[in-house]
Amino acid sequence: MGRKPTADEPLLLTPGPLTTTASVKRAMLKDWGSWDEPFRDLNADLRRRLVDISGGGDDYTAVPLQGSGTFVVEAMLGTFIPRGGKVLMLANGAYGERAIKVCERMGRETVAYRTAEDEAPSAEKVAEFLQDETIDYVFMVHCETTSGIRNPVEAVAAVVAEKGRRLLVDAMSAYGALQLDAKVVQYDAIAASANKCLESVPGMGFVICNKSVLAEREGNAHSVSLDLFDQWSYMEKTRQWRFTPPTHVIAAFHQAMLEYEAEGGAPARGARYEVNCERLVNGMRALGFRTFLDDANQAPIIVCFHAPEDPNYDFADFYGRLAKRGYVIYPGKLTAVETFRVGCIGSMGPSDVEGVVATVAEVLAEMGVADGRSHAA
Ligand SMILES: *Cc1c(COP(=O)(O)O)cnc(C)c1O
Repeated sequence: MGRKPTADEPLLLTPGPLTTTASVKRAMLKDWGSWDEPFRDLNADLRRRLVDISGGGDDYTAVPLQGSGTFVVEAMLGTFIPRGGKVLMLANGAYGERAIKVCERMGRETVAYRTAEDEAPSAEKVAEFLQDETIDYVFMVHCETTSGIRNPVEAVAAVVAEKGRRLLVDAMSAYGALQLDAKVVQYDAIAASANKCLESVPGMGFVICNKSVLAEREGNAHSVSLDLFDQWSYMEKTRQWRFTPPTHVIAAFHQAMLEYEAEGGAPARGARYEVNCERLVNGMRALGFRTFLDDANQAPIIVCFHAPEDPNYDFADFYGRLAKRGYVIYPGKLTAVETFRVGCIGSMGPSDVEGVVATVAEVLAEMGVADGRSHAA
C-alpha cells in the first residue's frame, strides 16, 4: 500500500480482479500435487477460515468451486432452489438481473421485485410478495456492484425468516468486509469469491451454507460441474476437489486469508474500505464530481460517479490517460445515465486513494475538462 503505481504495475480500482499484495502473488510460485497431503491440509484450512468469517460455527460449511463469481451464484441457485420451486428475486442492478437469467435458464420459476438502480428494496414489500404461498426462496444481492448500493439483507432476512421461507444471498462484493453474522441473519447460502474483499486472485469462489439444508439437496442441481452437494460430499470424504483444483489460486487465497486475519478480519477490513471510500468521495466532490448514490445507500466497496458534462470529456480518453499513469478505473454499468466507477477495495489505503484523486485532477486538466460537474447536478 502507498506505492507509486505504473502502467506496468497498476493499482486496480476495479472490484475484482483487484490489487493484491506481493506476498499473495508469491504464494503462487510453487507447484502442488493435488493429492499431496500438504495440499489437502491447505485446502481444509482455507475452508475452515472461510466458515469462521460467517460466525455460523459448526452448522455451516464452505464449498469452494472453480470459476468466476457467476459460476458460484449459478451453483448456489441450482443446488438450493428445488426443481419446481419458485423464487422471489430482488434486483436493482446487473447482478440481480444476471441471477434472474440464471434461474430462468435452468427452469426455476421466478417472481421479480425490481427497484431503481439507486433505490434499495424494502423489507415490507418483500413481505407483501411473500403472501404468495408458493414462493419458497428469496434471493438478493448484498452489495450490488453495478451502482455500489448496499441492500438491506438484515431487514429482508428477518421478514423471510418470519414468513418461514429461505434466503440465498449474492454477497460476492461484500463478504469479508460487510458483516452478516449467520447467528443473527438466517440464510441457507451465501455466494462469494476470492477476488473481492478477501483480496486474492481470481479463479475460484465459494458458497457458505447451512450443512443440514445442503445435505437435503442431493440430486437437485441441474448441472454436474455446478453441483454443490456433490462437490461438498466428495470434499468431505477425500479432502480433495472433485475435478482439477486451481492449486495456485488456492495457495494464494490461503495466504490472503492469513493476511486478512492479521489485519483484524472483517471489522478492520471494513474500516479500511470505509476510509478509502470517504477519501475518494470527498476528493472527487472537491473536483466537482457527483456520486450516483445518496450517501445513505453507498456501500464502501465501489463508487459510481456521473460523467462530467464538459464537452472535452470522453470516457475512453479519461480511462487511457489514468491507466497510463497506473490507475485502472471501471466503466459504468448503469442502464440510463453515463457514469464511471472507482473501487475502494483491494490492497490499498488512503494514501493510494489520494493518489487516485490527484491523478484524476491532473488528467482532467490535460484533457481540457474544467471540472467534474455533471448534468445530473
Ligand atoms: C463480481 C460479482 C459477481 C461475479 O461476477 P464474475 O464476473 O462472474 O466474477 C456476482 N455478483 C456480484 C454482486 C459481484 O460483484
